[in-house]
Amino acid sequence: MISESTLIDSHCHLDFECFDLTLENLLYRCRQKNISHFIVPAVKTDSWSRLLLLAERHKNWFVALGLHPYFIHQHEEKHLIHLNQQLAQPRFSRIIAVGEIGLDFSLTEASWPKQIAYFQQQLQMAKDHKLPIILHHRQSIDVLCKYIKATNFEYGGVLHAFSGSLQQAQRMIDLGFKLGVGGTITYPRAQKTRKVIQQLPLESLVLETDSPDMPINGQQGQQNTPLSLLAILTVLTEIRCESPQVIKQALWDNTQAAFKLNLSCNQS
Ligand SMILES: [Zn+2]
Repeated sequence: MISESTLIDSHCHLDFECFDLTLENLLYRCRQKNISHFIVPAVKTDSWSRLLLLAERHKNWFVALGLHPYFIHQHEEKHLIHLNQQLAQPRFSRIIAVGEIGLDFSLTEASWPKQIAYFQQQLQMAKDHKLPIILHHRQSIDVLCKYIKATNFEYGGVLHAFSGSLQQAQRMIDLGFKLGVGGTITYPRAQKTRKVIQQLPLESLVLETDSPDMPINGQQGQQNTPLSLLAILTVLTEIRCESPQVIKQALWDNTQAAFKLNLSCNQS
């Protein structure tokens, strides 16, 4: 059993340099608020060694390695080979997923074929290494589903920063994925996403901030931090019918299930 309000940020980029000066203080403040663990996905090869170094220092970080579609122009074939090597011989036991990978169709159409090729290869690698994935989507949920199905990918993971229709959410759940609930729901204008999240099974939800991006309502233009989990959780408990304690316990269990963690043993 966990302490009453222990939370996991299932998606934050604490390795980004913008956190350098404030990281220790931020982690201290998170501890005080019972935000106990962080899942930190990488975005490109040159950030991997730095991320792994930071995670070695911080025992409550879990890491995903991958090539983010947003930086598609910087990725090269040799980075995929490097990724495969890292996953085949992990020097580090807290690599728990392949991510952040996916498709971003808000980028120029000319980038789509390369995005799709890199996504497919990383999806296959995740399958080969039996690891879940952390998915980035923008106008791409249906296409992502198509490739996940075609690959017979069965290790699930999280569709991060979910916003979409109930049908799209259901399709992802059917494929074994959890949905990342983030700062979007703190904006009153996000009625559609709120409504979908209200109707989904509680077992399908995980909490995330995407720090330093996606600031919550009222903090636009500021650097986001995992402390925003509390505001996101407050809105989630307002829109769901379950009690706050039931929701917190479910979020904790769901994140562990998505990434096959066993924090009752590993908690530090
Ligand atoms: Zn991210």
